[in-house]
Amino acid sequence: MPAFNILIVGGGLGGLVTALALSLKGHKVTVLESTSKLQTIGGGISIQPNAMRVLDTFTPTLLETVKAAGEVQGEKPMTFWRYNGEFVFEMGTRGSFYDYPAMNIHRANLQKVLLDEATKAGAVVHTNARVEKIDDSGDSPIAYTVDGRRWEADLIVGADGVKSTVRNMMYPDIKLQSYTNTYRGMIPGPLMRADPELAPLLEKPRIYWGPHRMVIGIPVQKGAMYSLECNHPGDTGTAGEWNKKGDFKLFLDTYSDFEPMIKKAMTRVIPDSLLVWKLVQLPELESWSWQSGKVVLTADAAHAVTPFAAQGHAMAIEDGAALAECLARAKSTSEIPQVLKAFETIRKPRVHHIGALSQRNEHLWQLPDGEEQRKRDEGMRNIPMGAAPAWDRKHVDETPGFPPDPRFWPWLYGHDVIDFTNRRLDELLK
Ligand SMILES: Cc1cc2nc3c(=O)[nH]c(=O)nc-3n(C[C@H](O)[C@H](O)[C@H](O)COP(=O)(O)OP(=O)(O)OC[C@H]3O[C@@H](n4cnc5c(N)ncnc54)[C@H](O)[C@@H]3O)c2cc1C
Repeated sequence: MPAFNILIVGGGLGGLVTALALSLKGHKVTVLESTSKLQTIGGGISIQPNAMRVLDTFTPTLLETVKAAGEVQGEKPMTFWRYNGEFVFEMGTRGSFYDYPAMNIHRANLQKVLLDEATKAGAVVHTNARVEKIDDSGDSPIAYTVDGRRWEADLIVGADGVKSTVRNMMYPDIKLQSYTNTYRGMIPGPLMRADPELAPLLEKPRIYWGPHRMVIGIPVQKGAMYSLECNHPGDTGTAGEWNKKGDFKLFLDTYSDFEPMIKKAMTRVIPDSLLVWKLVQLPELESWSWQSGKVVLTADAAHAVTPFAAQGHAMAIEDGAALAECLARAKSTSEIPQVLKAFETIRKPRVHHIGALSQRNEHLWQLPDGEEQRKRDEGMRNIPMGAAPAWDRKHVDETPGFPPDPRFWPWLYGHDVIDFTNRRLDELLK
């Protein structure tokens, strides 16, 4: 397999995991990241079993390092409540069931581990390197950074997130769809532990479903911090801005009808940590590759989804691994366009089905009180999210229907992206 010269635009989770996967295959990888240092913004994210499986394939120690940087979830990792404090259900068993547990981690901690591993594997990461233009008219694509530097490569990967510059060059007219905003805030864990009214929140993540709003609380950094994510409609956030400050009074007022414990926790948010984001979804792009076939989009740049399936970063991780497998089939630079097409053919059905699940969850999880809400709660009590008691442990290749289709959760959490990608490549490149 030839070693290609690959440029990755964006050093977020998608860019770094792709850098790691490609460096481990022997390619020469350069990452251009616009910020001056990797950002500590962001809250708790939960890595699902399908993404944990991928991390386990890269190096013998990566999975353990990631686990040590966060908290592994128990077998029934999360509880769901109505906004008025009524308990609804506990998440179905995962962990041993899907071979890998899920875990909670602060986004910045995951990014740091991926940066260290990608660098160890040989990738070179440049910060302060904002790409403003790509020239894809010649044999090899060229990126230009705002400081005038020119970066030529065999392949350019656009991993520059929801507001991707690379995608904007390919599709100047694409508009991000956005309906929901989220307040993000952090609370010191010891402060909660010392308060008997708040301590129960530290036991395991909780999701509160309310009319047109919902709240997710996750203990992170080994209980040193508690991360709150509070969704609401309107226009408080701005797409792609991760640093916008939230208005504290408006934040508290927005959830004034929620139960007393979670409301009390909200009053303990460190004021400076309160940010407000816009959650966005990208319409399906006609193609992820540009004209030469040597510029490709990945992760949020290609298929940003709202976080109601908790799979945005998992899809970025799967994409990175899949892209590395696809490129391993190219015997020369002239075969790059063909394998990138295969990458898109393999990945698109999965990421867009997950995008549709997220939209479906956004509706279901924020239903107003009433008949539809009661049916939802009853259905969830009968077959909790994640549960698949009748699964025969065979890999689910075909895209299933949504829950309660019994193949859905095994398709989502039991996915083996490396094996599946290689089997599909064998078919597509015959
Ligand atoms: C600061 C920040 C905090 C986040 N916090 C959370 C969170 O708490 N929970 C959650 O679920 N999701 C969060 N996300 C989004 C989440 O990381 C992504 O949805 C997911 O991981 C997919 O990763 P990605 O690499 O496609 O995008 P991102 O992780 O957004 O990474 C994109 C990277 O590209 C860089 N970049 C952008 N434009 C350029 C350019 N022109 N040239 C060079 N570099 C560029 C950005 O600085 C960023 O580092 C956050 C994203 C960011 C940037």
